[in-house]
Parts: sequence; structure tokens; C-alpha cells
Amino acid sequence: MVQDEVVKKHIEIRDKWIKKWQEARIFEANPDNREKFFVNFPYPYVNAYAHLGHLFTLTRVDVFARYKRMRGYNVLFPQGWHCTGSPIETAALRIKEREEKQWRIMRDMGFTDEEIERFADPLEWVRYFPKEFKKDFTNMGAGIDWRREFITTELNPYYDRFIKWQFRKLREKGFIVKGKHPVVWCPNCNRPIGDHARLEGEGEVPQEFTLLKFPVEGEDYMLIAATLRPETVFGQTNLWVHPRIEYVKARINNETWVLSKEAAIKLEQQGRRVEILGTVKGEELIGKKAIAPMIHKAIPILPSYFCSPERGTGIVTSVPSDAPDDYIGLKDLWNNPEECEKYGLDPEEVRKIEIVKIIDSKDLGDEPAVRIVEEWGIKNQHEREKLEKAKKLVYKKGFYEGVMKKNLPLVGGMPVEKAKEVVKKHLIDKNEADIMYELSGRVVCRCGTEGIVKIVEDQWFLNYSNPEWKRLAHEALDNLKLYPESIREQFHYVIDWLNDWACTREYGLGSRLPWDEKWVIESLSDSTVYMAYYTISHKIKELPLEEINDEFFDYVFLGIGKPKRDEWRQLREEFLYWYPFDFRNSGKDLLNNHLPFMLFNHTAIFPREYWPRGIGINGFLTVDGEKMSKSKGNFLLMRQVVEQYGPDTTRITILSGGEGIDDCNWDSKLAESMKTKLLEWLESIEKLYDKGASEKRRIDEWMLSRINKAIIDTTNAMEETLFRTAIQRAFFDYNKDLSWYLRRTRNKPNREIINKALETQVLLLAPIIPFMAEEAWSRIGKQGFVSIAQWPKAETNAINPVLDKEEEMVAELLRDIAKAKDLAKIEQPREIILIGPDEWLYDFITRIEEILERTKNPREIIGELKKDYADRMQIVVRLVKRAIKQKLGISFKNWSEEREALMDVKDFLEEEFKAKIVVLSNEEAKNSEEEILKKKAEQALPGKPAILLR
Ligand SMILES: [Zn+2]
Repeated sequence: MVQDEVVKKHIEIRDKWIKKWQEARIFEANPDNREKFFVNFPYPYVNAYAHLGHLFTLTRVDVFARYKRMRGYNVLFPQGWHCTGSPIETAALRIKEREEKQWRIMRDMGFTDEEIERFADPLEWVRYFPKEFKKDFTNMGAGIDWRREFITTELNPYYDRFIKWQFRKLREKGFIVKGKHPVVWCPNCNRPIGDHARLEGEGEVPQEFTLLKFPVEGEDYMLIAATLRPETVFGQTNLWVHPRIEYVKARINNETWVLSKEAAIKLEQQGRRVEILGTVKGEELIGKKAIAPMIHKAIPILPSYFCSPERGTGIVTSVPSDAPDDYIGLKDLWNNPEECEKYGLDPEEVRKIEIVKIIDSKDLGDEPAVRIVEEWGIKNQHEREKLEKAKKLVYKKGFYEGVMKKNLPLVGGMPVEKAKEVVKKHLIDKNEADIMYELSGRVVCRCGTEGIVKIVEDQWFLNYSNPEWKRLAHEALDNLKLYPESIREQFHYVIDWLNDWACTREYGLGSRLPWDEKWVIESLSDSTVYMAYYTISHKIKELPLEEINDEFFDYVFLGIGKPKRDEWRQLREEFLYWYPFDFRNSGKDLLNNHLPFMLFNHTAIFPREYWPRGIGINGFLTVDGEKMSKSKGNFLLMRQVVEQYGPDTTRITILSGGEGIDDCNWDSKLAESMKTKLLEWLESIEKLYDKGASEKRRIDEWMLSRINKAIIDTTNAMEETLFRTAIQRAFFDYNKDLSWYLRRTRNKPNREIINKALETQVLLLAPIIPFMAEEAWSRIGKQGFVSIAQWPKAETNAINPVLDKEEEMVAELLRDIAKAKDLAKIEQPREIILIGPDEWLYDFITRIEEILERTKNPREIIGELKKDYADRMQIVVRLVKRAIKQKLGISFKNWSEEREALMDVKDFLEEEFKAKIVVLSNEEAKNSEEEILKKKAEQALPGKPAILLR
């Protein structure tokens, strides 16, 4: 990688300070008498290099840690590495088998063939990548206590024993249960096909269909329709069968079901007893009536050509209000009486079918399928492409944003997503429905066999559906701080609807389930309370392994029993000091699994005082406006960007890309400009520091006021992890203030003030751009590290908004006088006359600003002003119109206040324009003999004097 001179400087500065920090061990955290703050970043899975997504979340954690350190907290920021699961094992196997794709991935990461050979051993991954992650994290400036680093799985026997202890605890408390679980299965290899063991179908999962039962009138069998949306049963109008499909009659659950042959086979694979009794052709069913579940109404069986025997059961229940296929299917029949007669249906009967409204789908109304089909002009059921698009849109709007109609039983007024679970459960309880799984897409095993869904029988589950456990998780959530708060409702919602989680797998790296060793604990389940392990991970390694058992963990983490030796007591003290953690930050994808799992498990293992105190969540990352992906060629590694732009540039750029829950955009143009700007900033700090005058002027007071305001605003933003706002205030706005200050003092600032301004800015930026800040701190001769210096404290009594008004007026005067020069075509005026406004305007402008906060409607505004300004309505109307479009002026209290401000900047203006400045009150101008002065006086507004040049 070619580094230009600018980046070279960044890297030199970085390497210098990394070395100094390490020598001084400033990030090694030990218990003391300060208040602690414990932050952590979810340990990454180490089967490749760290990428830009890691960088965003990590930067947030590090900046917060650095900020809290400067606030005087004893901050712990440890880091471990996740090795649990099958990806590493599978990838190693692929290297061994010389699979082309896997070899290419490794070559793309920059490995030579010789090096790649070594990765045939899974251990090589575990040896290699954590080391590289550590390098990357250090090089981007993360202040981590590396003594506490560890890896997961039985490769780390200490951690392995910790996980086993945790699982025995969970089982003792009844939070682990045995049950069935659908998995993607290879019938040839006779084992589950993990995502990484597939030739085709990465990401495909078993999808749960609700099987609805329709007893047919006058027959001894029932039709079985499969649906993904059981909550729409209230809108059923008919059933669809394909006239030419040969369905099977099968004995299942002591009932006779009619469904496609393919569906019967699936059910058998899923462990059901299926006995085929015979077949029945679709067309034989048409015209019969069946009793629909939930609504218990007889509905007709009608022909359709979009039913597929491979999808669901080949029989579909029709909900024309919310399914475009169903609506168009009905419409086709309405338009085609011959088609009806062909199957012996009465076209009039079919025409009588009425659409039932069941869901309010926000912008799409309560008959979304009808609306989209009509609006898009879809002609018939053979326009597949348009219909697929319509289906997706209606589903998205209805399922995620829709609300069930108020008049419905059981679920009236409920969000659709929630109603789905309620209806499904109700139907199953009433024996009106059953469950079947189907793959969301084709999966092919590495052996070439097509995957199926199989129900694994003796699977172990974390019992997250347990209502008592849910209650505790809600309680834990209620008692912690969220960054941002707006995520809370969604978080509760996820806890509410979390199902039991299959916590073991048949293979992969990990820890074995202690009481059933054929199972390996899977990766989301061995990572729920490990933050507690950080408190002891640096010292536990010094104890003999045979001593590390349940007794040990019971004592250290729960205070049960007695310490075997003094070291145990020390570890217990570390835990008591550091735990619980105060801040854990992750991307919002983990909101659906890891974060709620973490809360559940904390409540199961630890007493309340050790439940998490804070969780931060950030949005997804885009690169120059596009989703980051390998196929788009914009997949950026952490090391790539850090070496290309320097660590501080990278940090300030990525944090400027987004805050709160919004997605963050990495803007490479901004990075390109920031790398130079930061060096210029560093040089300017050095150049300006400790130079200037000793006299104190009003403008010095203004700068002091601005410094203190910036401290307050930046501190407030930092407290809420709103780092983009903090950067705006402490860097961009602050720089503007500084350059204004220098202009106003004609580069002769007050020495004390400029020093305070520069020191404060370095301190405020230290968490964001730590290397530049350290360098600046040392170049201005400060002792010690800025990384552990005290965060600046605001002196609120130094903040004076009147001074801001004055400076705002000066800035505008500079512009207005320049404009007036242009207009009058006067190159060099001798005299500039500034005329103040009529006194009544001061109250008026305050009044109008206050009204504008409420309304921008001119009629309303004038209405409010009418009474008090009846004799001046003409001018009032004109000013109101102007005020709506732009700021009228500056709300000084009265002429006396404004005049004082003008007199104060008189010298500055005289120097700027090399002309004499004359300040006149409105009265003085109006009483003058000169017509032009009288006329000009009319134009003056508060804070915006009229200008006359001569
Ligand atoms: Zn296979």
C-alpha cells in the first residue's frame, strides 16, 4: 500500500503514542477507590480480518471508554475472541480438500499458497486471526486492557469450565429443556447441513407453515392448506386447488388429510406417521364446500393454476383482501363464466363472493391486495412477475406495519405481527391447525444431496418462552440505560416473542454440553454472560486448572462457599468491583438474538445488582451510500482504511457518518479531506498556543463564553454517545469560533483565552482523535497523557448570550456594509453611518419570534398582532411577510443595549473598512436636516442598523 506524506505523518504519530501508552500501561485497569466504568464490545468471530462494520461499533465503544476515563472513572475495556461454531471447522476442511472457492477467499485475503496449506488445521485459524484482530484494534487506537484477552471453546480449558458451570446452573434452575427442533438435514451424510457446509442455499432456513384444516361437507376427509400468515384466516372466502394436481389422501393424526404428495413426504421426514390411503384429483374437489377454521363458515373450493404441489400442500386458502394472488384468482373467475361452468360451478354463486376486510395496512388501506392489483393494472393470474412484486409489498406493509381490524374477535386492534402468534396458538389448541416446515429455498449439501427439513428429537433448548423468565428479562431491560432510548419498545417486543432456542449443535468448535457430551454448545449460547469472565480472565490463568470447578465459580461469581486460597478471594474482589458492566455496544442486528439472550441469562445466573446497566445500539454501515458487500467490491477491511487514511481520520470520519439508530455512512471523500485537515489542526494548535496580548476585551469574553458553551454541548452529546453531534460542536463549530475570534482580535488574541481555547479543544477531541490530541498536548508543553487528563468543566457563569448577539450583528454588518459598497459603487468610503431602528421594533421583533415558534401562517400571525399594532398595520404586514422567509433581525432588548454593542465594535469596523464609523439613533437620523438620513432611518431593524456610505 502506497502511503502519501500526509498519511505517513499520521502513522508516525500513531506509532509513537501506541508505544508510550503501552510503556505507561494506561489501559490496564485494576480495582482502586475510584468509581468504575466497564465497557465492552461483543467478541468478534475470528475467521477473517476485522472489517469496517467492526470498526464502527468498536470506535463507539473506545470513544465512550476514553471519555469516561477523562471524567475520572476507572475504566475497564477488555477484549476476547469468539471461536465457537462450525465456520472455522468447515473452512479448514475445505482448505484440506483443496476446494477452489475457499482457496480463492484465502488468496484474496493476501495469503500465499504455502500459508493457506496451514489453515487446513482449524487451530491455525484460532492461532492466526485473534493476533491480527489485536493488531488492528491497537492500530485504530482502541485502549484495551490486553491482559484480559481470551478465546472461547475447549481450546481454552478455563473458559470451557466457565461455560459448563453456567449451563449446569441454567439446567438446575429449569431454564434448559429438551424438545424437538427443525434443522436443515442431509439424508446422505445423515447430519445437519450448517450454513458453511452448503454448495447452494447459504442462509436458507426451515420456514414454519401453519397447516389449516378444512373438513369437507359430506366427506370423511379434510383439505389441508398451508399458510405463512395464519392471522389472515378471518378474511377467508374460498379454497384454491389446482384442477390437474393429483392429491393424496393420507392418514395422519387419526384424521384423513388431503394434500400434495410432496407435502406428505415432508411430513414423514419431519417425524410424522403418514399412511397413504389413495389419491384424489383436484378437479374432483372443485365445487364442494369446506368448513374454514376459526370463522367456521362453509366456503367453496375453486380452481386455480398458481397452486404448486412443491410449495406448502398444493392447496391454498384464499384471502382476497390481503393476497394479490387470491384477488386476481377470483377476478379471473368473475371475468370467465365458461371457466366456472367447465367445473360445474354456478358463475352467479362465484360472483356473490364478498371480500372481507381484516387488516389496516397503513398507506395501503384495508384492502391492500385489491388496491395494488387495480392500481398496477395486473390483468390475470399469469402475470407472475408483477404479482410476486405485489405480494412482497402487501406482505411488508401488512405484516410489519398493519393492525388487525377492531371488530375482529381475539386479535381486534392488535399489531399483525403479534396477532400471527396468537391466532396460530389458538388454532392449534382447538385442533384446527398443525405445523409443517419447509425450506425457505433450495439447499444442496457439499456431498451434492438436496437438503430436507428434519425434526431433531432430543435437542436441548434454552427455555426463552418461559413466562417467568421473560418477566425477569423485561425487568432487567426496564432497569438499564439504552443508547438511544428510542429502541426500548422494540427490545421489549423481541423479548415478548422470543421462542425457545436450540442451544446445541452436533459439531463445530465449542464447549461440550456437560451432561450430554455428544452435543456442542452453539455460538449464541456460549456468549451470554462472558462479560463477567473478563473480570477474572487475566488472573484465572495463574491458577491450576484442576482447581477450576463449579465450587470455584460459585464462590467467585456468586459468593457461595469459601475460598480455597487467597487468590480466589482476589478474583471475587475483582468481580465485585467491576461487575455489572456499564456499557455494551453492538450493531442493531444483535437486537434479535444476542442482546435479549444476554439479558435472559444474566437474570438466570446473577442476582439483580449484577444485571447489565447499559446497552448501546448502532445502525448498519454503508460505504459511500451503498451496502458494504464482497460482491459490490466495496468490502473494506479495518486495516485497509486505517493504513490509507490514518487512525484518527478513520475514527472521526466513521463517527461523522451517523449516530443514534440511523445507519452510518462511510464517506471516503470526507476521509480524504479530513486526513489533511487534522494535520493542519495540529499545526495551528502549536502555532497559536501561548501567543497574544494581555489586555482583555469584550471579544475575549465572547470567546470564553463560546468555549464554555462548547464544553456543555459536547459533554451532553458524549453522555448519550451522540458522537457525530460531539464532533460537530468540538471540531467544526469550534474551529469556526476560533477563526472568528482571531479575525476580531486581528490575530492578537488574549494569551490566556487562546490558551484556554486550544487546551479545551484538545481535551474535547481527545476521545475521538486520541493520537492527534496526544501529539498536540505534548507540543504545547503539557505534562502527562491527554488520554487520562481531566475532562474540561464548564463555567456556566461565563456564558453570555448577549455577546453572541453582538457577534452575530458584527458578522452581518460586515456582509451588509460590503454589499452596500458594491451597490453604491464606492470603493473606499470616508464615513459609514449606522442608524438604529425605531424603539417600538424591539418589542415587536421579540413578539414575532415567539409567535413564529407556534405558527408560520401569515393570517394567524397578523391576527395576533392586530390589537397591539393597529396604528402600524401596513408596516406590520410587510414585516410579517419578511419574517416568515428570513430572520428579521437580532432581538436586543432596546436601543441602549444595541448601541453599546455597536460602540464596542466601532474600532474593529473602522479598521476593517478604513473609514470613520458614525452611530446614530433613529431619532437623531429622523431629526436631521438631511432627507437621505430620514429615509434610511425607516429601514433599520433591531440588530440590523441602516447603512449609509459617503
Ligand atoms: Zn451430504
